[in-house]
Amino acid sequence: MARIVQKFGGTSVGTVERIKIVAEKVKATVEQGHQVAVVVSAMAGTTNQLVAWTKECGILHDAREYDTVVAAGEQITVGLLAIALQNIGVDARSWLGWQVPIYSDDTHGSARIERIETENLIARLEQGQVAVVAGFQGVGPNQRISTLGRGGSDTSAVALAAALDADRCDILTDVDGVYTCDPRVVPKARKLDVITFEEMLELASGGAKVLQTRSVAMAMRHGVKLQVLSSFEDLPGTMVIEEKPDMEKNKVNGIAFSVDEAKVTLVAIEDAPGVAATLFGALADANINVDMIVQTAASAPGKTDITFSVPGSELERSQKVIADIGDALRYQDIITSADVCKVSVVGVAMRSQPGVAKTMFATLAEKGINIEVISTSEIKISVLIASAYKELAVRSLHTAFGLDVD
Ligand code: ADP
Ligand code: ASP
Ligand code: MG
Repeated sequence: MARIVQKFGGTSVGTVERIKIVAEKVKATVEQGHQVAVVVSAMAGTTNQLVAWTKECGILHDAREYDTVVAAGEQITVGLLAIALQNIGVDARSWLGWQVPIYSDDTHGSARIERIETENLIARLEQGQVAVVAGFQGVGPNQRISTLGRGGSDTSAVALAAALDADRCDILTDVDGVYTCDPRVVPKARKLDVITFEEMLELASGGAKVLQTRSVAMAMRHGVKLQVLSSFEDLPGTMVIEEKPDMEKNKVNGIAFSVDEAKVTLVAIEDAPGVAATLFGALADANINVDMIVQTAASAPGKTDITFSVPGSELERSQKVIADIGDALRYQDIITSADVCKVSVVGVAMRSQPGVAKTMFATLAEKGINIEVISTSEIKISVLIASAYKELAVRSLHTAFGLDVD
């Protein structure tokens, strides 16, 4: 007998019919004699609708009220799945974040899970009851409902698996595993049997939304046995695993892209100690995640240009933060563009095999794609390019790095 956490995403619980199919899948696992905790997302599209409504009521809104609204989608699916399970003879009950409780910090909108109390859940699991737990939500220090950032149900599932000391955490979704690139954009993408935690982390932070970045970091930290597989078909999925010595075969194992990007250039900013600290300090204080940064010499003496990227959804707020500290920065001009996309190539072999940057830049040059900003980590190279070239860039890189399926 094992203890298993199964997470079903939005498409997998997108209709009542789909929820009934999920219930059958859960029942099959229960009948194998396992203890099962299920984590569910909201029905596909629901969270987007809830987010849109909060924006319609006020662009600058209280993040605690935002969470109250957007957490609602998961309340519906936990209840529906519990009913569907009960109707096919499976003992089950729903659990909202505050009922478990799943305690988080107070960073509403992108809260971090701090602790999960498992006593009540474990008692029920041991009686053979299925726990249907709402993903994406927790309860903050002031007893207010919190949410964990978009795609956060993955993190709920991994955190629950860690807290319950589960034997495995299965992420059941609308693809049958992790591919070398999003199969919806690269038809020649190949399914991976295994991927290392580090590569998955870089792909996720590069925009591959198949797993939320935080869920991968958490699984890595707690040694959770994590698997991505189809909720529609019974097929082997992709295991996310620790790196092994014989893994350094391909230079690149995956390509990710993100269109939620914006580029900001401050032209002829004061070239003096403390200026970057003031600029990026103010953005950090506003909770804006700066990703890529380049600084270049400006034509005027004592001046420099700084270009950086922020999430596209944060461009407006970033401009406001910069305008507020404009006196301290003394820049000549600010140029922004939301028409950019980030493309990242990822592979643990990059540590030992040179030439990835060369192939990447040559491939993009051949296609006439201009690179606007570059950033690297030990196992990743990212470039910012015009978003019109997204498909062309990822498909050409996929071919150039020998990733295309035969
Ligand atoms: P869920 O609702 O189940 O959480 P998501 O939509 O969040 O599902 O994530 C699954 C989607 O991730 C897939 O439909 C696919 O388009 C996308 N995706 C992006 N990159 C990859 C990748 N490298 N491998 C597989 N899927 C990917
Ligand atoms: N429903 C939430 C979202 O759409 C959480 C999730 O699906 O993981 O972001
Ligand atoms: Mg998701």
